[in-house]
Amino acid sequence: KLQKEEGSISIHTENIFPIIKKWLYSDKDIFLRELVSNAVDAIHKLQNINLMEGLKLTDEYQVDIKIDKDAGTLTVIDNGLGMTADEVRKYINQVAFSSAEDFIEKFKGLEDKNEIIGHFGLGFYSSFMVADKVEIRSLSYQQDAEAVHWTCAGTTSYELEASDKSERGTEIILHLNDEEKEFLEKDRVSEVLKKFCNFLPVSISLEGEEVNDKNPLWTKSAGEVTDEEYLEFYRKLYPMSQDPLFWIHLNIDFPFNLKGIIYFPRLTNEFDVTKSHIKLFCNQVFVSDNTPELIPEFLTPLQGCLDAPDLPLNVSRSYLQNEPQVRKIREVISGRVASKVVELAKKDREIFVPIWEDIHTFVKYGMMREDKFYDKVKDQVIYRSTGDEKYTTLPDYLERAKEKHENKVYYANDEGVQATYLKMFKAQGMEALILDAMIDNHFIQFLESKNSDLKFERVDSDVTENLIEEKDESKEIVDADNKSRKDRIEETFKAELDIKGLTIRIETLKDNTVPGVILLNEQQRRFKEMTSMM
Ligand code: ADP
Ligand code: MG
Repeated sequence: KLQKEEGSISIHTENIFPIIKKWLYSDKDIFLRELVSNAVDAIHKLQNINLMEGLKLTDEYQVDIKIDKDAGTLTVIDNGLGMTADEVRKYINQVAFSSAEDFIEKFKGLEDKNEIIGHFGLGFYSSFMVADKVEIRSLSYQQDAEAVHWTCAGTTSYELEASDKSERGTEIILHLNDEEKEFLEKDRVSEVLKKFCNFLPVSISLEGEEVNDKNPLWTKSAGEVTDEEYLEFYRKLYPMSQDPLFWIHLNIDFPFNLKGIIYFPRLTNEFDVTKSHIKLFCNQVFVSDNTPELIPEFLTPLQGCLDAPDLPLNVSRSYLQNEPQVRKIREVISGRVASKVVELAKKDREIFVPIWEDIHTFVKYGMMREDKFYDKVKDQVIYRSTGDEKYTTLPDYLERAKEKHENKVYYANDEGVQATYLKMFKAQGMEALILDAMIDNHFIQFLESKNSDLKFERVDSDVTENLIEEKDESKEIVDADNKSRKDRIEETFKAELDIKGLTIRIETLKDNTVPGVILLNEQQRRFKEMTSMM
């Protein structure tokens, strides 16, 4: 039988606990995540041993969280592999404290508290953020193991003695300090569990009630999930939101592990497109919902869950920024979103158009930011058009325009202001695109830089006017029916338009392929006359 022993925890620094409390305070809820994940780890370890050694352990594995208001304790109980006295000495007394030394060295005077937990998985010791005394009662699965009882009251000394625990597994008993009595309220504890442990793979119960979904949707394979299930899952994650525009189920084993379901939300006015909305998990343990590093900047609105088991549980922002795998995750997401856009565009134009109206800014931005993304989606970009189809791709537009204006795209950026021009174009059997979004100006320049022979010209552009000034009478185009194009257009417009106070000037363009039309209202005409006389 183990003799009661008392000893000193090896640490050079005087007292780690005030420091833990001081520095980790801002995110104290994570103590519960750490304790429950240790409990789940202990169960996984036992399951593995079970498999390997063929032990016949048929228990229901589970983690219980119990509150004892009278005693002022919160207890996390698991039926995992348990710890022997030696293991407690090794894993509890030493390991955490060895990193604590570094911890104090590196972070003396550091301001950002969240960074610290990121670098140092203090794990078990984070319980001292809320408790002034912690007890461990544990019985190892090993044959003839003796149950142990470890106590530490927030100083560098511990006590280790025999215990009467008769069931295999570990209990961590937190004697909450006076400021943290809120963790004696079931609702408060439940809230924290919902946040961090909602999708843990082992049954977690609080006061006898199961709190988690052990098989979240992303753990299933895409083939076996219905649309309705994806929507249901989304509603569970974001109860106040409208249904998403589309979703992508990720299930990647190679070259790294990445599972998840990401959703492109419907962007309402309340939706904040400047912050990240993805929930990051590590083996179904919630890690963070503020990890913009994980997705390409142009896809910031994406919502949903990513489970990246190869990333450490205690990730920090600075870690994410420097981790090569994070860049690869971004690339995967960018590639999968591109493929999804292509798939949607090809499947059904009618369904695609409203989706496109919501996503086009992001797609265009992505094309400008990433060559790979550009290459994948470039032929699927659709533009609102004055043509019969209402929407067209650029290749289709250019194909139709080939005869009249090869490689030239006419567009309007303000349908209202340029309405007359658009009507004229239509009357001439010419098609113009409507490029009136904020991003379109840049996007046009970008497209021109990408395709050297492509030219965009605004329907009312100065270029048209300048070209007209430099007209060359001698090369007047004559149509098949022997009428000059000029006469023809004049006829058309006189018939089609009855706009009072407008002077119609019709000229042939310098390149002789495109007829240009200038409409001047009376004031403009006089002004032009005046200035030309000066
Ligand atoms: P980490 O989980 O990163 O190893 P922790 O400080 O959380 O660090 O835990 C230290 C060690 O204590 C664990 O690796 C494990 O060996 C042991 N331990 C903690 N909690 C339990 C538990 N509930 N059951 C069995 N062993 C545990
Ligand atoms: Mg741990």
